[in-house]
Formats: sequence, C-alpha cells, structure tokens
Amino acid sequence: MVEALHVLNHTFGFSSFRDQQGHIVDAVIRGKNTLVVMPTGGGKSLCYQIPALVREGMGIVISPLIALMQDQVSALNAHGLQAAFLNSTLSLTAMQDLERRIVAGNIDILYVAPERLIQARTINLLQQVKLSLFAIDEAHCLAQWGHDFRSDYLRLDVLPQSFPHVPRVALTATADRKTQHEIARCLQLDQDAQFVCGFDRSNIQYRIQQKNRPKKQLLSFLKEEQKDSAGIVYCLSRKKVEDTALWLQHEGFTALPYHAGMDTQSRQRHQDRFLREDGIIIVATIAFGMGIDKPNVRFVAHLDMPKSIEAYYQETGRAGRDGENATAILFYGMEDVVKLSQMAANSEGNEEFKRHERHRLNAMLGLCEMTSCRRQALLHYFDDSMDTPCGNCDNCIQPPQTRDATEDIRKALSCVYRTGQRFGAVHVIDVLRGSDNEKVRQFSHQTLSTYGIGKDLSTDAWRTIFRQLIVMGFLDVDASAYGNLRLTEKSRPILRGEQSIHLRYEIKVNNTKRSHKIRDDIDQENMALWNDLRACRKQLALENGVPPYIIFSDATLKEMIVYRPLNSSQLIEVNGVGDKKLEQFGEAFLDVIRNHEYA
Ligand code: ADP
Ligand code: ZN
Repeated sequence: MVEALHVLNHTFGFSSFRDQQGHIVDAVIRGKNTLVVMPTGGGKSLCYQIPALVREGMGIVISPLIALMQDQVSALNAHGLQAAFLNSTLSLTAMQDLERRIVAGNIDILYVAPERLIQARTINLLQQVKLSLFAIDEAHCLAQWGHDFRSDYLRLDVLPQSFPHVPRVALTATADRKTQHEIARCLQLDQDAQFVCGFDRSNIQYRIQQKNRPKKQLLSFLKEEQKDSAGIVYCLSRKKVEDTALWLQHEGFTALPYHAGMDTQSRQRHQDRFLREDGIIIVATIAFGMGIDKPNVRFVAHLDMPKSIEAYYQETGRAGRDGENATAILFYGMEDVVKLSQMAANSEGNEEFKRHERHRLNAMLGLCEMTSCRRQALLHYFDDSMDTPCGNCDNCIQPPQTRDATEDIRKALSCVYRTGQRFGAVHVIDVLRGSDNEKVRQFSHQTLSTYGIGKDLSTDAWRTIFRQLIVMGFLDVDASAYGNLRLTEKSRPILRGEQSIHLRYEIKVNNTKRSHKIRDDIDQENMALWNDLRACRKQLALENGVPPYIIFSDATLKEMIVYRPLNSSQLIEVNGVGDKKLEQFGEAFLDVIRNHEYA
C-alpha cells in the first residue's frame, strides 16, 4: 500500500484515496478477483490503474468503447505512463509494432476490445508476457437480460480458464443484485472481494417536468441556467435529433447532432468536438454516451422519456463526473407513455422479456409521477437507501401539491367505457370536452351521456389525468398503433365509488428553480484568473492534441485559484498535479498565476 500511495501522489497527483478506493486497490494488489460497483464519477479508473502499476507486468483493460480508447490512452500518457490500445482500428504495421513493444515488456497498461481479446491470436500473445491484472470495464454488459448486453462479454469466461493466476477486477456503475451475481459467476470472482459502493450522485439535481411546450421549456432552462455549459440533450428518434439540433443552432447554441444513422466520420467529429471544446451541446439518441467520460458535462436533458430507470440513471449519470453541481432535467408527456407502451408490446422477444420491459417502463413512469423525493426512489430502485429526503430534487425543492381528483377520474373512466374502449386519449378527451368534430359525429358520440361532462377542464388538464391513470394502472394502452385505452380490474372500485384518488396538481412550467452553475463558486474578482487558466489549458490541449480536461480538470484549476501556487513545490500540492504534469505544464500555469499575483 505504501507503493500504491506513492503512485497516487506522484503519478496521478492526488493526495488521498476516496471512499472505498483504498480498500479496493489493496484487494486487487493482493491478487483478489474483485467486483467494483461504483457510481459514475466515483473514481473507478484508479481502482485498476494503480494496482496495474504496482503489480509486476502489464495491465489489460477490457473495454467495449473503441472510440474512446484513444482518449484514455492519451490521459495515461499525459501522466507519463506507457499505455496503448489494441482494437480493429489499428493498421497491420501499427499492430506489429505494438506486439513488439508488448513482448519487450514496454507497456504498462493496454486497452483491448472484448471481441479482440477473445481471438486466439490475442490470447497467445498475452500468454507470452507477464500480466499484472485484467480489468473488465462496463462489466454489466455480460448480463443477458440487461439493456447493454454484449455477447462477446459472455466469452470472457476464457479469462479464469486461460489465465488462472492473473487477478481479475470487474467494474460497473449499474448492476442490480442479479447482475452482480452473474458477473461474479462468469468471471469467478471472490466472495470476499465485492465492493458495492452507494449509488448516490449527490451533485446531480434531478428534475422531471410535464412536457407542455417542450422547446420553450428547454430553451428557458438553457438560457436561464446553463449559458455556455456543455450538455447532452437526448431524444428518442433520429429525426427529432436532427430537428432539435438545427433549432438550437438557430437559437444561438453550438449544438451538434449524434445518432446511429449518421456516417461514422461525422459522428466521430461531433463527439471529438464535444470532448475537446467548451460549451458544446450534443443532441443525441441513446446511441451516444456509453463511456463518455468528459468530466464537466453540466446538464443532461431528456426531451423524451427513457424506457427504464436503468437507462435514465445511466444517461443522467454522464452529468457532473467532476463532482461539481449538475442538472438532470426530463420532460415527459402522454405521448411518451403511449409510444413506449407500444414499443414494449411490439418488441421482439418472448413474453417474459416483454413483461420485464413493461415492468421497467412502469417503474420509470412511477418515478415521473411521484410526489416525494426522487433520489430516495432512485436509490431504492437500486437496492440502496437514503434515510431523509435529499433536498436536491424538484420534489424536495418545491413539493408538488395534490388534489382529490376522484370525480374527474370517474368521468374519464366512464367515457372510456361509453366509447367502447376502442379509442385513444385524444378522442376520449374530445368527447369529454364536448368537441364537435368529424370523428365525434362519425361515431355519434355526441349522444353519449359522457359527452361534454368534462368541459370545465382544459385539454392539457385531461391529458395529465389520463397519463396518470395509465401510470397508476387504471387504464391499459392497446398494443395497436392507435393506442386505444381499456379499463383494467383496478378501475372498478373507482367507478363504483368505493375509492378516492389524489393526483398531482400540475404547476405551471417555467418556475425558475434554484439554479446551480459552475461559475457560482468563482467570484467576480477571480473570474479573470479563471478565464486565463482556462485559456492556458486550451492552448496546451491544442498543442498536445488532447481534450482540455486531460491537461487538468476544472477542479484542479479551481484549487489553483484558491491556493495561488507561485512555484513548483507549491503547485505539486494541488490535487490533480502529478510529477509528469508538473514537469510538462507546470511553468505555463505558474506564469498565468504569477501574472495575476504581481499585476
Ligand atoms: P468513473 O470511471 O468511476 O466514472 P473516473 O475514474 O473517471 O470515474 O474518476 C472521476 C473523476 O474523479 C476523475 O476526474 C478523477 O480524476 C477524479 N478522481 C478519482 N479518484 C480521485 C481521488 N482519489 N482524488 C481526487 N480525484 C479523484
Ligand atoms: Zn429529493
């Protein structure tokens, strides 16, 4: 452990281990086959990087994220380490050259794609050299029922078979008990070396709003709270991604689209710009983001509802990896509920799979509709817990009001019944509100007893009620394209007047919530230094062809502002400044600080 601390201080420039990091590093160094479940931004990388350096031999990191390997390697090189990657993007000569370096023992850490690792050629190569460990990143990918399943991961059981004496450390940010168990079984991990850290991301503020005027809602969020911030906007369809990116560009933002229908080059270019430049917004489908470890993503906005809490947690988890305040904001509506129900019903897969999908969707909807602390609910979903409400979600900051809606609900359910359970919400609401349109006349629905009994409420108000009725299981959505509504068993007691129901009052949107901005904690007098430090970082990033955060993180620059180091022995005290970075970049930053000190 003395050696591990030395590497932590000198190579990575950090003063101490965080939370369980120290215990994990210790276990891996001792050769334990270890499981690490730690939230995004928790500091998983050091858990295998340090043992890989302390133990004898080359460390192998198995990661599905080919597109990001280059950045991971650059980050290690910036710390003065010998790192490389082995994947399908290498040319034959580059590959042969790398093999020579590997055999000569000149590589500290090697990143390998799983499909590459399981090839006989790779196994043979690795068997010729001394290995310090295997780190299996994104280990949840081997859960077959999971949302990120990759079949190559299943074949990683070759590791305990072919390399029984090389310790394995599996890492993931999202794994329920069942998935943890499956990872431990496949990779033959040790019972007494499983570290499941809390799931909470306390710096992320969760907000979920009803989607009324989604563009307006997003725009006011961006303009009032996120000026010049980097962020991700998720949409369900490719077309919506394109449209939204264009619209944001018109509104003056640097917004770039990203989806699987674009050619590889444009996608790569947009991802690179997002990583390298400041203040870029990526508008994307879920194709974007796995393993994106840009630390200073300030917000993740969802314009459509994710299909499960797992997906929501993973996507929102890309915000605020640096530990600074970040916001996750989701806009959801009636049409999401209908669309996702249909997608679940029509998805390929057997009945059990569909049941799982429905279950996941309902849990997600429940999270949207709930009126108490969202973080408590999220943690509970992952078998974690929190005793008191968090104070940093919308429901905690501004508790929603509820009202007795039994009478309205009875009207809604009767109208579904009277129209024969053959129509979607739009038509049923038309009937309730007494609209005079062609469809109403076509089916003679103006003659029904429920025609016009809901005139007192607006269409939006009725949509809210129907959405909550679906979520609470009083109505079912048909799998057909029409999204017909049907009554369920659960709705009988209400129709019979035996049960009353309270619903969430929809508060008007655009109430500005407490806003967090990274600049909040930099006061006016330090702003000029902050800007100069960032400019210096940007310049060095350009010169070295790496993203700015690989030079130094925002947290490190902020410490420089607080401590104002004027020479290298003071600068090395700053968190994130290690020996190699001090040597390479130290003078440039010291110059900037001295200029301000002596100005
Ligand atoms: P994860 O892979 O779990 O999402 P990372 O390994 O990328 O997280 O770490 C997240 C951030 O926390 C990085 O910016 C990293 O430099 C920082 N970090 C990790 N461990 C420490 C530590 N012990 N002290 C200070 N910063 C740390
Ligand atoms: Zn809360």
